Parts: sequence; C-alpha cells; structure tokens
Amino acid sequence: MWKLPKIEPMSKRFIVVIIIVFISLITVFSRSSIPIKKSDNKLKIITTLFPLYDFAKNIGKDKVDVTLLLPPGVEAHTFEPKPSDIVKINEADIFIYTGKYMEPWAEEVIQGVSNKNLLVIDSSVGIPMIPENNHDTNEPVGANDPHIWLDFDNDKIIIQTITKAFIEKDTLNSSYFQKNVQEYQNKLTLLDEEYKNKLSNCKTKEIVYGGHYAFGYLSKRYNLLYVAAQGVSPDSEPTAQDLAILIDQIKKNNIQYIFYEELTSPKITETLANETHSKMLLLNAAHNITKDDLEKNVSFLTIMENNLINLKNGLQCSK
Ligand SMILES: [Zn+2]
Repeated sequence: MWKLPKIEPMSKRFIVVIIIVFISLITVFSRSSIPIKKSDNKLKIITTLFPLYDFAKNIGKDKVDVTLLLPPGVEAHTFEPKPSDIVKINEADIFIYTGKYMEPWAEEVIQGVSNKNLLVIDSSVGIPMIPENNHDTNEPVGANDPHIWLDFDNDKIIIQTITKAFIEKDTLNSSYFQKNVQEYQNKLTLLDEEYKNKLSNCKTKEIVYGGHYAFGYLSKRYNLLYVAAQGVSPDSEPTAQDLAILIDQIKKNNIQYIFYEELTSPKITETLANETHSKMLLLNAAHNITKDDLEKNVSFLTIMENNLINLKNGLQCSK
C-alpha cells in the first residue's frame, strides 16, 4: 500500500528554522523605524553650539560620538549650514540645536531630513525665554534672547533633555548616562554657588558690554545690570548715538572696566574704552570655540570660571 512519506525529525527542525527566520525578517522590516546601532556601538550626535557639544560629551562620554556643527572660531549667529552639514545631520542618531531664536535655519533643515530615525532635540523646550531688557527700566525692548545657556538653571534643564534623548536611543546605557548627568549637574550647582557668592558684594553691578546682548540671563540670575552695544545678534552696528549714550553712561557711573566678546573684532569695546579711559576684559558667551581651545579640550565650565574671574575684577567685587 502506498503511504505518505514520513517527515524526518531533521526536516521538521528545518521547517521550524525557516519559520523563525521568516518571522524574524517580518519583525525586522516592520520595525525598521527602530534605530540600528552603528558598528562601533556609539550614538552619533550632532550639536550646533559649543555648550550643547560639551554637555553631550559630558553625559555620553565614551558611549557617544559628538560632532560640533559650527566650524571652530566661526561666529554663531551668522552661521548657515552647508549641504555637507545637512548630510551630516541626516546621518546622525540625534541632532541637538539651541532653539528657533538661535538657529532660525533649523526648522527647514529638519523638515528636509529623510532619515526617519533621526531624533531632533530643541534644547530650549521647558526653558522660560526672556526678552532683551531695557537697562534702566528693566522693561522688555527687544526680541527673545536666545542665549539660554548663560544661566546654570537653564543648563540643568538642557542636560536633562539631552539625557532623555540619549536614553531613548540607547536604553541599555541608561544608568551610565544618569550617573554622568548627575555628576555634571553637581558641577553646575557648585559653580552657580560660586557665582552667587563672589558677585554678591561688588563696587558696581553694571556690566557694560561692547558686544551683542548675550548676558541677559546671567545678569538677571545674579542681580546685575547689563547694557550691550548691540542687540541679541551681532549683525547690526551700533549707531553713533547708541555709542554716545553708552559713553555717557560709563562716565556718569564711573565704570572702570568694560567687557568685550569672543570671536569678533573688539573694535566697539576699544572705542568705548578709549573714550572713557576704561580697561577691557573678556566676557566669553561660549557660543563657539577656537580651534586651539577645542584641541586643548577647553570646557564650558572653564570658560564660565574664567568669566567669573573677569566679572569679579571688572565689577570690583570684594570676595
Ligand atoms: Zn549671541
């Protein structure tokens, strides 16, 4: 009598293997939106400004590969990404930018990105924005101030946002990122306390800045007054009348030191200093970093420590 051929145990196993492979393939294809980790296992991060770059490095350490989009030494407000920068963003796991007031070009770039796995982080989310204020009345006079990183409490919000993004993309290293962010947060707290302490008893509370309006957040935090020669971006030159008003103010308030900004020509500050016989000190808003400093691993915290030294000298503080 004719019989159905018996399926050998070996063949049964073969069929099971085929089914598993088939199911696995379906799973892989249906979950194609889940990131496939790079061969070196590091998250690829692109940041716009230097503080974000430094925060990301401190939280991710050896588990991340962070790239600063701004070429070293370039002025941040006038920066526009090149096609090669957009390619870099498209190939990353996470793109972190400051916010729409600092990088008005970001929205369009993000919309053009084809990499569906890219996680885009607007670091200003959750941060109360403050506008440029009038020096005397403290009334808002200008646009929203994009320099949110110049307040250590804002930095704590930014680093938490970055950490959340890292964990979303790399859950296995969650406790590693959380430990690193806690350590960095403690450093921010210590530096903030040092600022509060050292700037509490000064001969003058007035920061006169020969650059653009960048230190509104910092001044508010430490109860200082702040006046800048330019608006929230360095793209407009102050008028002769603006300079005359500043010169009057420096003379009237007997200001001995005025501050100049990083990475741009200090010629406005020089004019003010020459007219008023005041001395010049750097106040670095840390938007970007020079190639030299990048190679020397200069950190955001070091920049802020140096700023405190200059503020203490410039405002003639006693502590
Ligand atoms: Zn700026």
